[in-house]
Amino acid sequence: MENRGVIKPMLGTHYPMISHGKGIYLYDDQGKQYIDGSSGAVTVNIGHGVDEIAMAMAEQASKVAFVYRSHFTSQAAERLANKLADLAPGDLNWTFFVNSGSEATETALKIAIQYFQEQGITSKTKILSRWTSYHGITLGALSMSGHLMRRARFTDLLEDFPAVSAPYCYRCPFHSTYPGCGLQCGEDLERAILEIGAENIAAFIFEPIIGAAGGAIAPPPGYYEKIQEICHKYNIVTIADEVMTGMGRTGKLFGVNHWNMTPDIMTLGKGLSAGYTPMAATIVSDRIISVIKQGTKSVMSGHTFSANPLSAAACCAVLDYVESHHLVHNSEARGEEMITGLKELMMKYAIIGDVRGKGLMVGVEFVSDLMTHRPFPAEAKVGEQFLSICFEKGLIVYPAFGGVRGYEGDSIMIAPPLVVTSAQVKEILNIMDESLSELMTRLIA
Ligand code: PLP
Repeated sequence: MENRGVIKPMLGTHYPMISHGKGIYLYDDQGKQYIDGSSGAVTVNIGHGVDEIAMAMAEQASKVAFVYRSHFTSQAAERLANKLADLAPGDLNWTFFVNSGSEATETALKIAIQYFQEQGITSKTKILSRWTSYHGITLGALSMSGHLMRRARFTDLLEDFPAVSAPYCYRCPFHSTYPGCGLQCGEDLERAILEIGAENIAAFIFEPIIGAAGGAIAPPPGYYEKIQEICHKYNIVTIADEVMTGMGRTGKLFGVNHWNMTPDIMTLGKGLSAGYTPMAATIVSDRIISVIKQGTKSVMSGHTFSANPLSAAACCAVLDYVESHHLVHNSEARGEEMITGLKELMMKYAIIGDVRGKGLMVGVEFVSDLMTHRPFPAEAKVGEQFLSICFEKGLIVYPAFGGVRGYEGDSIMIAPPLVVTSAQVKEILNIMDESLSELMTRLIA
């Protein structure tokens, strides 16, 4: 019986001990193989055990692993920042490095507010966000998150930022259908701005494709163009939270690249380092930085490990790997195969209500009634059951529930490393097929 150790998400539950990983596979100390069908937390984009990354890290560590960002910069951090400036859309040219996605979105919040403060506008302190969203677990980031389950225990401590409906066509908050709806979900942003007052709002934050809170929900065409237009009209900074969607996950390098929109600030995490080291980033446009530069104050964010050379070198090597192995293209091509395969399973299993997503960020929503999209009751824990059946069979899929209705719910994500092959996509689909069959048997019993 354990009486000390790492605090696990579910204390008292047995967690297998992982000994090593290679590509899309993980192996525990008992020799069991798992397919990492979720890339951990949608993180390990280049797969496990890539020697090039280990070598780049060893080389950097032997030169210098850490310098304090208030004293020095480093070649590795500058190279990474320059690379990101080359790749990011528009004039997103300035990067602030942090260690987690939550820190990246909190930094974005602070920079957006500071941008207005430097212009003498002190009332713009609110950040608008959407319901059915996730921007991180620290209190500022959680305040911006419309994830009901994760907010629940801390509501009294949180700012009331989420105010806008999600562009969630399968469960349209306006009970309309695209394109006849006239993009009411986009117009909902303007409604919220008028209600709260543009003079109080610094920024609007969004995940280009909704991840943890709903399972790969992409908006209808025209939505982001509308959002951009509304934000410009009311002098509101746009923050694209690309912590999950960035670095090729959705079949384009950044999620916003699917639309004709350029955010003022972009956050990255997860796939930036592909999990080889904790690293995240807040990328800021020339327009915002030029105002902040003229002011007298530094950006009041930063952490001891911000921009450390070791993590930066790891991220440079990850980016090189993504490019040299054409992983953005592979994400798009294998994602299409995954979605086609899941749509076939949808014909076979009447509990699959929706299959959606882009690239290798693929969502499946379970429902008890295909016609009405009625969800299963919370007690049935259908999503959780599916996850544990898959886990038993050696496949890891990602829980994307709790964000919509606040209870354990019904959407999951399949998001394997972007190195996945066509044969491995079939392997994943076969295990899902077997797991769905077992789930159906349990539900009927
Ligand atoms: N933003 C998005 C879109 C995320 O999906 C997540 C994590 O899932 C975060 C922010 C928070 O990142 P982290 O867990 O690294 O703090």
